[in-house]
Amino acid sequence: MNNTREVEVVVIGAGQAGLAGAYHLRRSGFEPDRDFVVLDHSPVPVAPGSSAGRR
Ligand SMILES: Cc1cc2nc3c(=O)[nH]c(=O)nc-3n(C[C@H](O)[C@H](O)[C@H](O)COP(=O)(O)OP(=O)(O)OC[C@H]3O[C@@H](n4cnc5c(N)ncnc54)[C@H](O)[C@@H]3O)c2cc1C
Repeated sequence: MNNTREVEVVVIGAGQAGLAGAYHLRRSGFEPDRDFVVLDHSPVPVAPGSSAGRR
């Protein structure tokens, strides 16, 4: 099975900065999933600190 995908932009990190970037990409006409994706290595935000918590 081939799971390779091509998108124009990959945002690494779904913290405040990454999500703000994704928001502005969307407002600029980029379609999520088609033109850009946001990847994060943490499954869910965990308090405290960063959007993903500190490990
Ligand atoms: C203890 C503590 C308390 C805080 N309290 C406050 C507060 O009360 N109010 C406030 O405004 N700010 C607070 N801050 C600051 C605020 O959390 C940060 O300024 C803000 O989260 C930074 O956002 P960011 O998107 O740059 O990074 P982050 O929120 O850290 O997001 C980065 C994301 O990238 C992901 N990531 C990292 N490396 C990779 C990788 N290699 N591949 C994929 N994903 C990756 C992480 O999982 C994370 O989700 C606090 C910080 C700390 C440490």
